[in-house]
Amino acid sequence: MIITSSGLPYPAITAELCKGCGRCVSACPKGVLLISDNVNNMGYRVAEYIGDGCTGCAICFYNCPEPFAIEVYKEGEA
Ligand code: SF4
Ligand code: SF4
Repeated sequence: MIITSSGLPYPAITAELCKGCGRCVSACPKGVLLISDNVNNMGYRVAEYIGDGCTGCAICFYNCPEPFAIEVYKEGEA
Protein backbone atom coordinates (compact mmCIF):
# COMPACT_ATOMS: atom_id res chain seq x y z
CA MET A 1 0.00 0.00 0.00
CA ILE A 2 1.17 3.50 -0.76
CA ILE A 3 0.20 6.35 1.57
CA THR A 4 -0.54 9.69 -0.06
CA SER A 5 -1.20 13.02 1.61
CA SER A 6 -4.60 13.70 0.03
CA GLY A 7 -7.40 12.28 -2.09
CA LEU A 8 -9.66 9.26 -2.11
CA PRO A 9 -8.19 5.76 -1.96
CA TYR A 10 -7.87 3.93 -5.25
CA PRO A 11 -6.18 0.89 -6.79
CA ALA A 12 -3.64 1.44 -9.54
CA ILE A 13 -3.23 -1.46 -11.96
CA THR A 14 -0.21 -1.71 -14.24
CA ALA A 15 -1.78 -3.38 -17.24
CA GLU A 16 1.43 -4.83 -18.66
CA LEU A 17 2.11 -6.71 -15.41
CA CYS A 18 -1.44 -8.04 -14.96
CA LYS A 19 -2.19 -11.61 -16.06
CA GLY A 20 -5.94 -11.27 -15.74
CA CYS A 21 -6.27 -14.03 -13.18
CA GLY A 22 -9.20 -12.29 -11.52
CA ARG A 23 -8.06 -12.88 -7.94
CA CYS A 24 -8.31 -9.20 -7.12
CA VAL A 25 -11.80 -9.07 -8.64
CA SER A 26 -12.99 -11.98 -6.52
CA ALA A 27 -11.32 -10.68 -3.37
CA CYS A 28 -12.51 -7.07 -3.44
CA PRO A 29 -15.25 -6.73 -0.81
CA LYS A 30 -16.68 -3.66 -2.54
CA GLY A 31 -16.92 -5.23 -5.99
CA VAL A 32 -15.20 -2.32 -7.67
CA LEU A 33 -12.74 -4.28 -9.83
CA LEU A 34 -13.49 -6.13 -13.06
CA ILE A 35 -11.72 -7.96 -15.85
CA SER A 36 -11.98 -5.59 -18.78
CA ASP A 37 -12.09 -6.19 -22.51
CA ASN A 38 -8.69 -4.50 -22.83
CA VAL A 39 -5.89 -6.92 -23.73
CA ASN A 40 -2.28 -6.20 -22.78
CA ASN A 41 0.85 -6.99 -24.79
CA MET A 42 1.00 -10.49 -23.29
CA GLY A 43 -2.54 -11.25 -24.47
CA TYR A 44 -4.25 -11.07 -21.10
CA ARG A 45 -7.49 -9.25 -20.45
CA VAL A 46 -6.53 -7.00 -17.59
CA ALA A 47 -8.17 -5.94 -14.35
CA GLU A 48 -9.58 -2.45 -14.10
CA TYR A 49 -11.04 -0.23 -11.38
CA ILE A 50 -14.56 0.95 -12.07
CA GLY A 51 -13.49 4.33 -10.77
CA ASP A 52 -15.55 4.67 -7.60
CA GLY A 53 -16.10 3.00 -4.25
CA CYS A 54 -12.63 1.85 -3.25
CA THR A 55 -12.10 1.94 0.53
CA GLY A 56 -8.35 1.41 0.41
CA CYS A 57 -8.49 -1.90 2.28
CA ALA A 58 -5.68 -3.34 0.09
CA ILE A 59 -7.20 -6.82 -0.01
CA CYS A 60 -6.70 -6.77 -3.78
CA PHE A 61 -3.01 -6.02 -3.30
CA TYR A 62 -2.53 -8.94 -0.92
CA ASN A 63 -4.37 -11.35 -3.24
CA CYS A 64 -2.45 -10.48 -6.40
CA PRO A 65 0.27 -13.01 -7.27
CA GLU A 66 2.03 -10.67 -9.69
CA PRO A 67 4.50 -8.28 -8.06
CA PHE A 68 3.68 -4.63 -8.81
CA ALA A 69 0.59 -5.43 -10.92
CA ILE A 70 -1.73 -3.69 -8.45
CA GLU A 71 -1.01 -1.09 -5.79
CA VAL A 72 -3.38 0.78 -3.52
CA TYR A 73 -3.10 4.49 -2.82
CA LYS A 74 -4.64 5.71 0.40
CA GLU A 75 -4.75 9.01 2.20
CA GLY A 76 -2.73 9.24 5.38
CA GLU A 77 0.36 10.64 6.99
CA ALA A 78 3.10 10.45 4.36
S1 SF4 B 1 -8.35 -1.56 -1.91
FE1 SF4 B 1 -10.08 -2.84 -1.21
S2 SF4 B 1 -11.93 -1.75 -1.94
FE2 SF4 B 1 -10.17 -0.91 -3.06
S3 SF4 B 1 -10.11 -2.09 -4.99
FE3 SF4 B 1 -8.71 -3.09 -3.52
S4 SF4 B 1 -9.94 -4.69 -2.49
FE4 SF4 B 1 -11.36 -3.25 -3.53
S1 SF4 C 1 -4.84 -10.33 -9.09
FE1 SF4 C 1 -3.17 -9.18 -10.07
S2 SF4 C 1 -2.65 -10.35 -11.92
FE2 SF4 C 1 -4.65 -11.08 -11.21
S3 SF4 C 1 -6.17 -9.84 -12.36
FE3 SF4 C 1 -5.77 -8.76 -10.41
S4 SF4 C 1 -4.11 -7.29 -10.84
FE4 SF4 C 1 -4.16 -8.79 -12.52
